[in-house]
Amino acid sequence: MTERMCVVCRERLPQKEMLRLQCKNGEFLRFEGIGRSFYLCTNCKNSKKLDKIIKRICKKNISIENIKEIIVYGN
Ligand SMILES: [Zn+2]
Repeated sequence: MTERMCVVCRERLPQKEMLRLQCKNGEFLRFEGIGRSFYLCTNCKNSKKLDKIIKRICKKNISIENIKEIIVYGN
């Protein structure tokens, strides 16, 4: 079983239970199949640290509303 680490809590969990995301050209997206990606576990979808962590990964401020939209509804 492939495990991946959640960027927020750093727990290792089965890949299929996680949300795969990416930052492409400073834009926060669901993983599109190409490029670097990162994982988020279900428990951390509502984390208060999420925007800070995404900011660090994307090297850009992404609003929490935008983050929630991507996480909940996709692109
Ligand atoms: Zn997590």
